Amino acid sequence: MTVDTPAYKSTKIVIVGGGGTFGSSTAYHLVKQGYTPSNITLLDVYPLPSAQSAGNDLNKIFGVMSRTDIDKQLSLESLKGWTEDETFKPFYHNTGELDISRSERGIANLREILAEIDAPGSELEGYMKWVETEDEILALVPTFTRDQIKGWKGIFDTKGGWLSAARAINSIGEYLKAKGVNFAWGGAGTFKQPVFDDDKTTCIGVETTDGTVYKADKVVLAAGAWAPTLVDLEGQCCSKAWVYAHMQLTPEEVAQYKGIPVVYDDEFGFIFEPNENGVIKICDEFPGFTRFKEHQPFGASSPQRISVPRSHAKHPTDTIPEASDRTIAKAVAEFLPQFKDKKLINQALCWVTDTADRNLLICEHPRWQNFIIASGDCGQSFKLLPNIGIHIVELLENRLPDHLEKAWKWRPGTGDTLSSFRGDPATDLADHKGWLHDDERSTLNDFADIRRSLVTA
Ligand SMILES: Cc1cc2nc3c(=O)[nH]c(=O)nc-3n(C[C@H](O)[C@H](O)[C@H](O)COP(=O)(O)OP(=O)(O)OC[C@H]3O[C@@H](n4cnc5c(N)ncnc54)[C@H](O)[C@@H]3O)c2cc1C
Repeated sequence: MTVDTPAYKSTKIVIVGGGGTFGSSTAYHLVKQGYTPSNITLLDVYPLPSAQSAGNDLNKIFGVMSRTDIDKQLSLESLKGWTEDETFKPFYHNTGELDISRSERGIANLREILAEIDAPGSELEGYMKWVETEDEILALVPTFTRDQIKGWKGIFDTKGGWLSAARAINSIGEYLKAKGVNFAWGGAGTFKQPVFDDDKTTCIGVETTDGTVYKADKVVLAAGAWAPTLVDLEGQCCSKAWVYAHMQLTPEEVAQYKGIPVVYDDEFGFIFEPNENGVIKICDEFPGFTRFKEHQPFGASSPQRISVPRSHAKHPTDTIPEASDRTIAKAVAEFLPQFKDKKLINQALCWVTDTADRNLLICEHPRWQNFIIASGDCGQSFKLLPNIGIHIVELLENRLPDHLEKAWKWRPGTGDTLSSFRGDPATDLADHKGWLHDDERSTLNDFADIRRSLVTA
């Protein structure tokens, strides 16, 4: 028996940023939905999982998002992917997520989140529990001390936990390879510009920096924090960096922390349980770093002030600013005070891109037919790996639901991308001490003193 494949399933599609989160998810769902794998090409600077993808990390938080109905919808869809799809299941670790605060503002904010989750008719009702007492916190994280958690209150996301991030992207890569999708990395995978038909508005492919031209019916630009530097997004996204650091624990220490939930405080940051190699990850919270430069993306008539990412993958000797030494030290003092003297390893900047209104930017370019932007992740979108591609495929097929089309549309001039939803504006790396780059090595490798002073202050 032969099955008729709809003509559009043989559409030739090039995905720029195919080694990252949104790009690999898009390719995955194209193949799942019957597109011809040999007509799909993934381009990236680095092989999948791309070394400079924000998703190429030890772990990321999975937590239910509640701000809007779209957040709730995406949360439920992604949870289904992480718990039911064999490609993703092994990478979801349902340790729970404990969001805590000791400040009045923070506690009020957590109460609001819970109210949203449990709002009448919410399909997420019951997913989170209020955590009121020290005993309740210690039951969830027995290794914390009573002194440490004085005044903490919070919510426990029963569906939350962590995602083995780079491995999950890699798992998509294995699937795509087995299906016969095309990949190109290095100069042959690095986007230079779109290629247009004679009408100068219909995109018919892309050119990469080595001069290769890939013809395509549709191009998806899923280049994350790099998207605004590659094509003119008219100020809709501002790329920013955050910091992570790792610590190596001994087997005895691992035993104390194994199985703890993700612990998150929006004033300090967050920690995860150690991985199978005894490495624990710590992130701080702050409004992010920009790196503004004069830069002319494709489509702009002149150079503009744009925040241009500088990846740790390309510049492995770059350090983190001293301000981050302090905020990471604060997070260690809050969550892991007994490790104040432990050396941090693998500290790095990791780049994402904020929109002004915190919604994604997933739409066709208003003037370039068949050129699709899939970006604006706002630093919270790794969890969407199993499902974001579903919606990008809907857009490619002109059937993106109205509410998503409206929220994710091209919308320049709609607000402040520098602060976005983060309270304060991001600060520029150029204004920070201790951010050593251009292949200089840091002289500030051991931050134990700063951490010690914070813990004992
Ligand atoms: C420190 C930190 C912690 C985070 N924690 C969480 C978390 O706990 N939970 C969560 O859900 N999210 C988290 N995020 C956010 C999450 O990682 C991102 O939202 C998500 O990975 C963005 O996906 P993306 O596909 O848009 O970008 P990316 O995954 O970064 O992919 C972009 C890709 O484009 C490629 N590219 C760039 N330039 C070119 C070019 N010229 N040609 C071809 N390809 C190119 C890059 O190499 C990269 O592979 C965190 C982010 C950071 C920085």
